[in-house]
Amino acid sequence: MYYTTVTEQQVNGVMIEPLQIYPRACKPPGKRNIHGLKVNTRAGSSNNSCPAVTEGLSNNSLKKSSAELKKILANGQMNEQDIQYRDILGHGNGGTVYKAYHVPSGKILAVKVILLDITVELQKQIMSELEILYKCDSAYIIGFYGAFFVENRISICTEFMDGGSLDVYRKIPEHVLGRISVAVVKGLTYLWSLKILHRDVKPSNMLVNTRGQVKLCDFGVSTQLVNSIAKTYVGTNAYMAPERIAGEQYGIHSDVWSFGISFMELALGRFPYPQVLRPGEVLNEVIQKSQGSLMPLQLLQCIVDEDPPVLPVGVFSEPFVHFITQCMRKLSTERPAPEELMVHPFIVQYNDKNAEVVSMWVCRMLEEWRSQQGIQ
Ligand code: ATP
Ligand code: MG
Repeated sequence: MYYTTVTEQQVNGVMIEPLQIYPRACKPPGKRNIHGLKVNTRAGSSNNSCPAVTEGLSNNSLKKSSAELKKILANGQMNEQDIQYRDILGHGNGGTVYKAYHVPSGKILAVKVILLDITVELQKQIMSELEILYKCDSAYIIGFYGAFFVENRISICTEFMDGGSLDVYRKIPEHVLGRISVAVVKGLTYLWSLKILHRDVKPSNMLVNTRGQVKLCDFGVSTQLVNSIAKTYVGTNAYMAPERIAGEQYGIHSDVWSFGISFMELALGRFPYPQVLRPGEVLNEVIQKSQGSLMPLQLLQCIVDEDPPVLPVGVFSEPFVHFITQCMRKLSTERPAPEELMVHPFIVQYNDKNAEVVSMWVCRMLEEWRSQQGIQ
């Protein structure tokens, strides 16, 4: 959870963008851990500086309420000694996310560890910029428990979501996606109301759990953190709006584009722009191989120059197709404003607070992955 709080200057000024987060459609679930997440590696066996953890979670401790937990963690008790790292949940461009056990509270956390070679002054600045996360209080935003620096790495501790991120789920049925869209729109609207732009809306930053909750993570609150990460970061995020790729003004409407393209991908089960694939190749492999060559640039050029893709009518409902088409209008000013998103017929239709639909679907998918991997 990083990036910048919006100021007039940042919204209206030309941003220097971090580069290279590519679309992650259709990743094979076979290489995932029991939660269907990315890596099936024990933290202890990986080449990282975080200690591995032994087995055993206290059932009692899991009964602690989240209010209690927040209290413990917000009292400055969040530190490396109290955290036992377990599985690796995934790697991103900025760092590695671990499933971890917080000993004093007995809770499972997700801890994102990012290596940052920066001065102590900058570390302090990042810590103070992250303070706003304690104030974020929305059912649609990942819970923040605290952050700390140890040597040259920052650990950001958040609520663990047992369904992982949406990028692993391939094609999601429209009635499920509808409920997920409502939560994401509410999460974004909340951030925008705090004058925070997300800046990294994409399926891997939308998390789900078996209770059917959907929460946003990795949004922009620390200018210094995003700048520090950007220094070791090359490429362009394919979920970025055309105006952002072109280096023009960035604002709420750019988050709306990224929301639209993400949901189009989740509906189709693949990144919406055409990709040239050889037989047997998956999109991620092609993108990794072609880093630095023309292919990703062509993709970005396509996003900037061509008409946006449209969901096939007949396969998806008319309100859904209309909603995504509006979010992906090339001209940013023509995209729906926050208040328009909430009253769009597609959102209204699925704004029924029915978490069970998402819950059942997450549970079913996790069950399928477990049985594919032969896990009881
Ligand atoms: P990028 O670094 O380009 O933003 P990313 O979002 O995939 O890519 P990370 O933010 O480092 O990378 O996250 C890695 C993975 O860890 C995610 O894709 C998700 O599967 C998992 N993850 C992150 N946060 C949590 C969490 N709170 N609970 C469960 N899984 C999480
Ligand atoms: Mg992320």
